[in-house]
Amino acid sequence: MTTSRADDLVQRRREAAAQLEDAMRELAELRRLREVQYDDDEHDPDGVSLSSEWSRLEGLKQTRLDALAAIDAAAARFERGEDGICSVCGQPIAPARLEARPEATTCIRCAR
Ligand SMILES: [Zn+2]
Repeated sequence: MTTSRADDLVQRRREAAAQLEDAMRELAELRRLREVQYDDDEHDPDGVSLSSEWSRLEGLKQTRLDALAAIDAAAARFERGEDGICSVCGQPIAPARLEARPEATTCIRCAR
């Protein structure tokens, strides 16, 4: 089965958006938990673990926002006809790399 780059990017974007939604939902849930807990107990015995869970989810959300932005950037390049060209050195990006990372905008050498 062969899919076009455009399809790849659309698919990738859908996945990234769904993952971002998951992270946002977990954050909302955690926020709710925190509020309940502060009401119940000022000493907040689980405060530490909740906080570390909070930073983990915030990090996750940021990672997924970045992923989404990278995919959008790749899609924009695609529309401009710059797809598959390294944004640093101007050389073609290896098809295998694009397959593994549809949002890649640099060749493997420049990514290092
Ligand atoms: Zn390059």
